[in-house]
Amino acid sequence: PPDVEELGRSSWDLLHSIAATYPEKPSEAEQSALLSLLKALPILYPCRHCAQALQEDYTRRDSVTTASPPSADDMKVSEAVISKSQAMRFTCSIHNEVNERLGKPKWDCEDLRKLKERWEDGGQK
Ligand code: FAD
Repeated sequence: PPDVEELGRSSWDLLHSIAATYPEKPSEAEQSALLSLLKALPILYPCRHCAQALQEDYTRRDSVTTASPPSADDMKVSEAVISKSQAMRFTCSIHNEVNERLGKPKWDCEDLRKLKERWEDGGQK
């Protein structure tokens, strides 16, 4: 089985970097590719109990594109419109869910400047 910690660091690296370099004006193909990637995680993530917990997190949100609990104007997965700020907030927010479960510090997912600093161009570790 994979090393859950090592796999986690590499995976967050990939996911946050994708969000941070995702275009401000994504094409339909880019939006649907990102959505597919995010939707694939609870099915394919190589740590089974992590994938299961992520599935529960997604179910609670009722939407892959929302960073916070569902509200009336949330977009549903099927609507497949995902902006750069949503992509960054969403990856931050699912990471925070895991941080919370593991007793690690949470990030302020509204602070896009900090997220960009950390994850654009390799960023500050
Ligand atoms: P990591 O949590 O890997 O974080 C790496 C870096 O990301 C940090 O140093 C920090 O700079 C930055 N960072 C931290 N929080 C945020 C945030 N919210 N937004 C943006 N950047 C941030 N492990 C388990 O034991 N159980 C699980 O159920 C589990 N589920 C996981 C589910 C997924 C989808 C992924 C990708 C990983 C999961 N992991 C799980 C692994 C876990 O999240 C950590 O990656 C692992 O414990 C190593 O932690 P770390 O302290 O090195 O830093």
